[in-house]
Amino acid sequence: MGRVYNFSAGPAVLPEEVLKEAAEEMLDYKGTGMGVMEMSHRSKAFDDIIKEAEKDIRELMNIPDNYKVLFLQGGASQQFAAVPMNLMKNKKAAYIITGQWAKKAYQEAQIYGEAVAVASSADKTFSYIPDCSDLDIPEDADYVYICENNTIYGTKYKTLPNTKGKLLVADQSSCFLSEPVDVTKYGVIYGGVQKNVGPAGLVISIIREDLITDDVLPGTPTMLKWKTQADADSLYNTPNCYAIYICGKVFKWLKKNGGLEAMKALNEKKAKILYDFLDESKLFKGTVRKEDRSLMNVPFVTGNEDLDKKFVAEAKAAGFENLKGHRTVGGMRASIYNAMPIEGVEKLVEFMKKFEAENS
Ligand SMILES: *Cc1c(COP(=O)(O)O)cnc(C)c1O
Repeated sequence: MGRVYNFSAGPAVLPEEVLKEAAEEMLDYKGTGMGVMEMSHRSKAFDDIIKEAEKDIRELMNIPDNYKVLFLQGGASQQFAAVPMNLMKNKKAAYIITGQWAKKAYQEAQIYGEAVAVASSADKTFSYIPDCSDLDIPEDADYVYICENNTIYGTKYKTLPNTKGKLLVADQSSCFLSEPVDVTKYGVIYGGVQKNVGPAGLVISIIREDLITDDVLPGTPTMLKWKTQADADSLYNTPNCYAIYICGKVFKWLKKNGGLEAMKALNEKKAKILYDFLDESKLFKGTVRKEDRSLMNVPFVTGNEDLDKKFVAEAKAAGFENLKGHRTVGGMRASIYNAMPIEGVEKLVEFMKKFEAENS
């Protein structure tokens, strides 16, 4: 059997081209006589890899010079703690609760200070983004925190919250590099790379320079202090070298394919195919309020659990993998990240049409 259409929410599909290139270089990276997994992180070859990766992501996201790009370990979840440890000068922050990842970040922040939930969409199973135009943000809040694309529930902020002058911190894990962003609107952007960019375990944090200081909460581990990592250019200790290498290749692939504007256009096209079908289908229904729909994660249901199960099983047999929804939402979820080809979405919709005809 060849490769399947992999709709996993993460770790997720990567560009085939990138995987092939990595395979070719597995035993001998560019005449070094060794693979990237085997080489010193202090070597010239790796230094070139990480510098090139940083240069390319800066170009792709148009990251201003006064922002640092850090390649860190511990995944996105580690930043749930690093954010308050590095930013909570007044020990207070505002959190917008739009799903499980936002909630986990909020709960983690409560260990270090007062995390205030200023809005939530928990009342309707996180199926929408709350109105964030006039929130009651505490005067002394150090930052406002959002999870910009909600991987599990399939919602995405189309406009950023009005932070009333406070710093904005965003977990972009599942929409990272899926469309252009205006970095200057954020104090901190971070993303676990296994959703849209590379192998799990690496998180890329883009942090405004003035926020990287020695003034962190007492007890902050050396490794979680952004300044430690920034001063060492992400090489304080041995980084996740192989993941950085793969991300670098994905950045090249994105550049070759037109950058983030082109990616956005393609992602909109792919998502439209699926959402248009969900809107006209008599069997399948999307679970998210239309204006808040994610381009990356598309949850849907039939309304009948047994039929959902049957669909997931038959889809798997037909080569469409990982369509089972998150256990808290049920039903199905198709994650259609950058590397999912448009044919994958077209064929999925064909398959759904066939299933609908056979089951109604
Ligand atoms: C997957 C995910 C996380 C957790 O990532 P880890 O790298 O496993 O810690 C956090 N936030 C969002 C939005 C995610 O999609």
